[in-house]
Amino acid sequence: MKINANFRALKESYLFSTVGAKFTAYQKAHPEKRVIKLSIGDVTRPLAPVVVSAMERAAREMGDAATFRGYGPDATCYAYEPLLEAVRARYARRGIALGSHEIFISDGAKSDLSNLLDLFSAENTVLVPDPVYPVYVDTNIMAGRRILYAAAVRENGFLPLPDAKVHADIVYICSPNNPTGAAYDRAGLQAWVDYAVREDAVILYDAAYEAFIEGGLPHSIFEIEGARECAIEICSFSKTAGFTGIRCGYTVIPDSLKREGVQLCKMFARRQSTKFNGVSYITQMGAAAAFSEEGERQILENIAYYKQNAAKIGAMLDAHGIYYTGGKHSPYIWMQCPKGMTSWEFFDALLERACVVGTPGSGFGKNGEGYFRITAFATKENTAEACRRMGDFLDSL
Ligand code: PLP
Repeated sequence: MKINANFRALKESYLFSTVGAKFTAYQKAHPEKRVIKLSIGDVTRPLAPVVVSAMERAAREMGDAATFRGYGPDATCYAYEPLLEAVRARYARRGIALGSHEIFISDGAKSDLSNLLDLFSAENTVLVPDPVYPVYVDTNIMAGRRILYAAAVRENGFLPLPDAKVHADIVYICSPNNPTGAAYDRAGLQAWVDYAVREDAVILYDAAYEAFIEGGLPHSIFEIEGARECAIEICSFSKTAGFTGIRCGYTVIPDSLKREGVQLCKMFARRQSTKFNGVSYITQMGAAAAFSEEGERQILENIAYYKQNAAKIGAMLDAHGIYYTGGKHSPYIWMQCPKGMTSWEFFDALLERACVVGTPGSGFGKNGEGYFRITAFATKENTAEACRRMGDFLDSL
């Protein structure tokens, strides 16, 4: 037999595994030190009370023969009506009308970002922003697709626009972006939609951080004219409602999105019925509660908590004259490494001398070299302590 040789083209380990291994090795060598992790984007706030109550209720239903449920309804790819209704209502509040057949409930955005690729030929060319969440690149390397990069640099506000000379079939947009925190305005997204329509491309729009957006920026690609003919949106309850451990997300494929005369939502429904068996009833009821009126109020409280952390980190960097972006529409601060250090040099120095772990920017793409990502997802106390230590470290340089 032959293995999938595309795996040979992958970097040896996933970025966050390398960061985790370095942290573990350091902690083992220095058990007396308390290292603070501002690296992987995992949340620390507990679930909203309405979510917990809904999950408790759902668990009790599962323990009663009269209300017990087995596999989810296959007509909706295993999605339960209350969650579909909650997602439809959230979009409707932004003036976007969706049908249930256009919404796919998943166990999170990471899975669907990869599952969706089943719909597309391995011969397609992919366009990925650089730097960006590493999953887009790795999943396409595994499938053997050709990958092109769109440079997200300080000069373009970390928001690349389409280059008419470059053709791509699949375009990834992550807005607000992980790791830079940059979020597109309407004109920027319109330029990408127009490009996709012209090139017959499909946009995979990752909106995992849409709940952090402030002001009038678009939360969904479907706020943009023409997007229903060229875009798929991938969303998640992970950062929006603290579901990183519970696992739930949703993907929207409009029924007007067709390629070669085929409706992609029908293809995906066919894919899901073969390769997926749904997300647990208990999880779905918790997710539906997160998008209820009271749920939205409670999840926004947690987002405000993280934004206060982001503001604290920003103030510390401002006080030291360090350039950074992000932290406004996003839980990520994207800072320039001081004294011309590379991303990994800064990582090692910060770990050794301040006992703080962040994520080296170069792990998100070559344009991330010289930058460093810090997350605002830690507790308020750990963020304050990490800022104090980082400030002292920066003073010492
Ligand atoms: N998309 C982006 C941009 C992310 O940063 C992450 C997680 O960090 C995900 C998707 C994955 O989200 P989920 O937990 O829903 O799989």
